[in-house]
Amino acid sequence: TLPLSNKVAFIQGGSRGIGAATVKRLARDGAAVAFTYSQSADSAQALVHEVEAAGGRALAIRADSASEQAIRSAIGEAVKTFGKLDILVNNAGVLAVAPIEEFSIDDLDRTLNINVRSVVIASQEAARNMNNDGRIINIGSTNADRMPFAGGAVYAMSKAALVGLTKGLARDLGPRGITVNNLQPGPVDTEMNPDNTDFADSLKPIMALGRYGKVEEIASFVAYLAGPEAGYITGASLMIDGGFSA
Ligand code: NDP
Repeated sequence: TLPLSNKVAFIQGGSRGIGAATVKRLARDGAAVAFTYSQSADSAQALVHEVEAAGGRALAIRADSASEQAIRSAIGEAVKTFGKLDILVNNAGVLAVAPIEEFSIDDLDRTLNINVRSVVIASQEAARNMNNDGRIINIGSTNADRMPFAGGAVYAMSKAALVGLTKGLARDLGPRGITVNNLQPGPVDTEMNPDNTDFADSLKPIMALGRYGKVEEIASFVAYLAGPEAGYITGASLMIDGGFSA
């Protein structure tokens, strides 16, 4: 049997990039996967078809992570459709880069709403619906620890917030056997951070491996943390960054 057979996963932000790779991987490992998107309806539908064509189960739900109500009803819809909830992956995130002198308060609010507040709300709603021995996996960033370029202060702050949130949630949910972890990728080739720019070329020399990560490499780590073999890892922020922070 597959490692995640009979499990139900909910991925906040699954239509593109790391989230989409995670939808595919968890479905391949046997989970029924519900995921949200806000803008990318076409990618979301294509992803559902791709998973179903491979024999898996997936459900796309439009839900803006800036909205408390949208997050709560999306989790409710997932539980109603698949009957329960075992795994939550908080992947939705935005990156706004600007010198602090020019950084807009709209971008500050948006970054905190999507990268932090939505993680608290989804974790709360999931905890209320989740089975014992469940899994919560946040997608943080190596930038919580190392921010080697200018303009990313607010993004780094938002990802550093997840380090503390993860520790506290692990304490709340440990008695139920629910683990909570924060995965911290380095540069990964996605629409947020394409591997074909001057910016990408400027980052590679500071990484031990000298290359961008692939979305499948991140999804593989999510699958491990979501699986039965990772039951003794909780409260941890775990680097998967090609040596960016080494
Ligand atoms: P992308 O921009 O490629 O994809 C972002 C995903 O999040 C999309 O599916 C998008 O859906 C969804 N999303 C964004 N805003 C919202 C919203 N308001 N409501 C619902 N869904 C939303 O990003 P990546 O795949 O690169 O990043 C995924 C996560 O990984 C983020 O948290 C990011 O900070 C983190 N990360 C990325 C790194 C990288 O180098 N790529 C490095 C370290 C961390 P839609 O298009 O429908 O809005």
